[in-house]
Amino acid sequence: MKYIDIVIVGGGQAGLAMAYALKRINLDCIILDENSETGYSWRNRYDSLELFTPKAYSRLYEHNYVGDEREFPTKNDVALYLKEFKKSKNLKVMYGEKVIKVSQKANRNYTIVTHNSTIEAHQVIVATGAFYTPFIPDIHDASIPITLHSANYRNANQIPEGKILIVGGGNTGVQIAAELSSTHEVHLSISKEPKRISTTLLGKSIFWWFDKLQILKLKPNTILGEKLRKAEPLIGHDFVTVLNSVSIHGKLEEISNKVAYFKGKSSLEPDAVIWATGYKNDYSWIKVENALDIDQKPNHHQGISSISGLYYIGLSWQRNRASGLIHGVTEDAEFIAKHIDKNLNTRRNK
Ligand SMILES: Cc1cc2nc3c(=O)[nH]c(=O)nc-3n(C[C@H](O)[C@H](O)[C@H](O)COP(=O)(O)OP(=O)(O)OC[C@H]3O[C@@H](n4cnc5c(N)ncnc54)[C@H](O)[C@@H]3O)c2cc1C
Repeated sequence: MKYIDIVIVGGGQAGLAMAYALKRINLDCIILDENSETGYSWRNRYDSLELFTPKAYSRLYEHNYVGDEREFPTKNDVALYLKEFKKSKNLKVMYGEKVIKVSQKANRNYTIVTHNSTIEAHQVIVATGAFYTPFIPDIHDASIPITLHSANYRNANQIPEGKILIVGGGNTGVQIAAELSSTHEVHLSISKEPKRISTTLLGKSIFWWFDKLQILKLKPNTILGEKLRKAEPLIGHDFVTVLNSVSIHGKLEEISNKVAYFKGKSSLEPDAVIWATGYKNDYSWIKVENALDIDQKPNHHQGISSISGLYYIGLSWQRNRASGLIHGVTEDAEFIAKHIDKNLNTRRNK
C-alpha cells in the first residue's frame, strides 16, 4: 500500500487552497479528485452563472484574475482561474480517483480507498464541497415527467414549453426563474419573504462593505450569525425581474398526481419542475468511529475533527460566513495548516 503523509479528498477551490497552505509550510500532500480536471464543479453549473462575488472577492490568496477586479467572473472564468492557480503553485492532483472509503487503522493512520487504489495516510482533509450532492425533498410522487435539480439545469433549451415550476427562492432559484421568464411561463415557490440586496452600494461592491463591516467574519454561533444563516440575502437584481414576470407561490407542500399544492391553498399543474432546493452532502464513506454526528454530518470544531488527523475545509459556516465562499477559504486553509503543523511538531518533540 502506498503511503502519503497528507491526503486531501476533493480538488475544488477548498482542496487547492488547503494544498497550497500546506506547501507554504513545506508539508507534502496529494489531492484525490473524482473528476477529470480542475474547475469541473464550476464548469458543470448552469451556462449563464455569473458569480455574485466580484473578482476581488473570488480569489485564493493574492492570486489575481485577468481583468478588472470589480467585474463579476463567470463560472468558466472561475474554472480557468482554479486551473491556473493549481498550475502556478505546482499542486499535485490525482484525477479520476473517487474516494469510496476512509477508515482508521490500529496505528491511527488512515486507509483511503478509491476505485483504483488504496493509500495509507497520517492525515486526511475532506474538501468535497458544501454544494456537491443535490437535495430534493421527499414531497413529490414523481408524477411530473420533467423533473430536475438545479445542479442539472444548464439553459432554457433544455426545458420544454409550458408551465415551469421552480421550487426554492434562494439565489439559484431566483436566477433560473429570471432567466426562464423570457421564454417560458414561470412559477416560483418560495418558503419565506426574501431579503434582497444590491451588488453595489455608494459605488462600492456590497462585498467591500461586508468586508469592512466584518459581516464575512460573522461566526455561526453568534446572534447575528444565526440570523444570517437562517435568511441568506438575495444578491443582485434578478428578483426585480422575477417580481415583474414570474408568478410567485408560497411554500410547496406536496406534488401529487401532477398537481403542486402550496401553503395557502393555491395549486398548479406544472409541465416541468426544477428543484432549487440546495444540497445535502453524503459523508457515509467516512467509516471512522465518531467522525460523524447522529445526522451523519461531520463532528468538528472550525474544521478540526474530534478524531486526530481528520480535518474538513470548505464547509458552509465552517468558521464564519465566508467559509463556504471562495473568499473565505484561504484563511480557513491557513488555520487548518497551522493546526496540522503544531500537532506534527508536538509529535516530533515527544
Ligand atoms: C450555483 C452556485 C453558485 C455559487 N456562487 C458563488 C459565488 O458567487 N461566490 C462564491 O464565493 N461562492 C459561490 N458558490 C459557493 C462555493 O464557492 C462553490 O460551491 C464552490 O464550488 C465550493 O468549492 P469547494 O472546493 O468547497 O467544493 P467543489 O467546488 O464542489 O469541489 C469539490 C471537489 O470534490 C470532489 N469530490 C467530491 N466527492 C469526492 C470523493 N468522494 N472523492 C474524490 N473527490 C470528490 C469533486 O470532484 C470536486 O472537484 C456557489 C455555489 C453554487 C452551487
